[in-house]
Amino acid sequence: MNHPKKERTFVAIKPDGIQRSLIGEIVSRLERVGLKLVAIKMLVANSGQVEEHYSQLDEKIRKYLIKYMTSGPIIAMVWEGAHAVKITRKIVGCTEPLTSDVGTIRGDYVLDSYAMSDEDGRAVRNLIHASGSPEEAEKEISHWFKPEEVIDYRLVQEEILYDVNLDGILE
Ligand code: ADP
Repeated sequence: MNHPKKERTFVAIKPDGIQRSLIGEIVSRLERVGLKLVAIKMLVANSGQVEEHYSQLDEKIRKYLIKYMTSGPIIAMVWEGAHAVKITRKIVGCTEPLTSDVGTIRGDYVLDSYAMSDEDGRAVRNLIHASGSPEEAEKEISHWFKPEEVIDYRLVQEEILYDVNLDGILE
């Protein structure tokens, strides 16, 4: 089994996140917790890509999501680090912005609700997607990225996050 620090998650900044100028804020929140960005690209998704990504959801919501997710550019990313999936979901917050905790990305930067999205017949707009489990992450990463687009490298801060002996600090 891989060391927990090698866990990866797939994150997408949805079209509303880009239109709201929140790219930097979102990247910054994931960076500052200690996660490592190992892949990133901007793209305009096509219906097929979105349909496959959300294949588990029921048809009505999936149709809404195709419209939402193909409406403008998105940013696809892979983040790596200990408990990457759970830590990222915690920072992102729960699905409906109205009830997402204060301090989370969805809770702090957007005000949509199921009541409003139902009334308007559309997907709830919540800025960001993050994988729900390591298995889901693996599927999503290979759906959106070629293996060579995900980069293995070391970050200097990993010494303090993961080094067992902390023996490289004092001179
Ligand atoms: P999450 O993105 O939090 O993992 P889901 O996988 O359940 O949530 O749903 C995927 C996306 O579909 C949500 O982020 C949201 O944009 C949209 N969505 C989910 N449920 C609804 C709903 N009941 N009405 C409108 N949009 C929804």
